[in-house]
Amino acid sequence: LANERESMYLVSEYAQKYFSNTLWQSELGKAIGLSYFKERGFTDETIKKFGLGYSLDQWEAFTNRALDEGYQLEFLQKTGLTIVKEGTDATKKFDRFKGRVMFPIHSMSGRVLGFGGRILTNDKKAAKYLNSPESEIYHKSKVLYGINFAKQAIAKEDNCYLVEGYTDVIQFHQRGIQNVVASSGTALTPDQIRLINRLTKNITVLFDGDAAGLRASLRGIDLILEQGMNVKVCTFPEGEDPDSFSKNNGYEEVVLYLQENSKDFIQFKTSLLVEESNNDPIKKADTVRDIVNSISKIPDQIKREIYIQECARLMNVSEEVLFNTLAQIGKKGA
Ligand code: ATP
Ligand code: MN
Ligand code: MN
Ligand code: MN
Repeated sequence: LANERESMYLVSEYAQKYFSNTLWQSELGKAIGLSYFKERGFTDETIKKFGLGYSLDQWEAFTNRALDEGYQLEFLQKTGLTIVKEGTDATKKFDRFKGRVMFPIHSMSGRVLGFGGRILTNDKKAAKYLNSPESEIYHKSKVLYGINFAKQAIAKEDNCYLVEGYTDVIQFHQRGIQNVVASSGTALTPDQIRLINRLTKNITVLFDGDAAGLRASLRGIDLILEQGMNVKVCTFPEGEDPDSFSKNNGYEEVVLYLQENSKDFIQFKTSLLVEESNNDPIKKADTVRDIVNSISKIPDQIKREIYIQECARLMNVSEEVLFNTLAQIGKKGA
């Protein structure tokens, strides 16, 4: 229902303003939330541009205020901002986001769809980020964080940087690099790639320097190749991510780092897997299949042929065996 969705948008936009007012105007918001963002190096201008906020560490501060303002419980619940628990004698309502700094998540056209909320401690037991649940207006698999702020720059630069987190997007913007979006916790989906594909054919995937996520993410990148896009990857030094790196380095240094460390995805993956296979013949065979499988996703025949030649060289196997493997994959329709 269009009406229901519109009511959900209005509740979400109200929540964004409420969390932002709490950050800028309440004593706790200023002392806890605003000082947290300042410590991360965000300027007032940046905090305002991204509509960042703070949720008080209370059970129903937001919910009660929203109800007082005339917003209906139904839509507070449907957006996930309020959690309703049916008890034996009473219905309990409480705020989903408590004591967190708030990152509103926008649609391509800038409407508020949902939120990510970060705890302020480094408590390893608590989930660092809590996100709005899937809803009629917030389909996680179809949303890219920052796309509303990045769309023009992506088209103009004819390239899109894809990062892991909210703060990576925000810090890049503050440094003057605006063609950047994040998948925010979820594995990359075909719908998310399609959003970028409408603006540019070139993606550079930036990986946090923690290695853990890297291997797991390689398979997801095949989805980008499948859409006929050109993919580069760039890793950051151990313990750094795009946020920390661009906080600690100036614009020129960041741009230079990206230029010098962005590598063609297929070449990067091939070199990485060859190195990891460490001359073990079985692992090497798996590597060959894995790489040919990635190459098979590329729709353009000329590009496939060039990659086969290049990867034969990198893996030190004959082009013939790679072409045969490619043909077999083609038959299986994999
Ligand atoms: P920060 O710099 O604030 O620690 P980050 O963006 O560097 O955050 P990462 O640990 O690199 O955080 O995770 C990347 C992204 O994955 C986050 O921005 C967030 O969207 C998502 N994420 C991380 N931890 C969780 C979690 N516990 N639950 C849900 N999503 C998470
Ligand atoms: Mn990470
Ligand atoms: Mn990170
Ligand atoms: Mn980080």
